[in-house]
Amino acid sequence: MRAHHPGHHEQLDGNAAGGLLLELFGRDMTDARAACAHCEHEAALADAVAELDDAGMILLCRGCGHTLLTSLRSDGRQTLVIGGLRRLQWPL
Ligand SMILES: [Zn+2]
Repeated sequence: MRAHHPGHHEQLDGNAAGGLLLELFGRDMTDARAACAHCEHEAALADAVAELDDAGMILLCRGCGHTLLTSLRSDGRQTLVIGGLRRLQWPL
């Protein structure tokens, strides 16, 4: 199933979200391994499908299309929604 998000049209890969992820996590997260809770697909965040707009970003599993992570900025608040992300792992 591929969730569709109105207003998001440009499909990018996780590298496009690298700057935002760096702000959120304080490190380059594109090499972090993300495991999907829905289909067990595991890959680097750089390989996830990314949808970006002015308000934030959505990272989608390349295996099943479920939302892994949503980052939104509005009303002076940063919101991070951990969706179908079972595990996020990165080297120290
Ligand atoms: Zn998946």
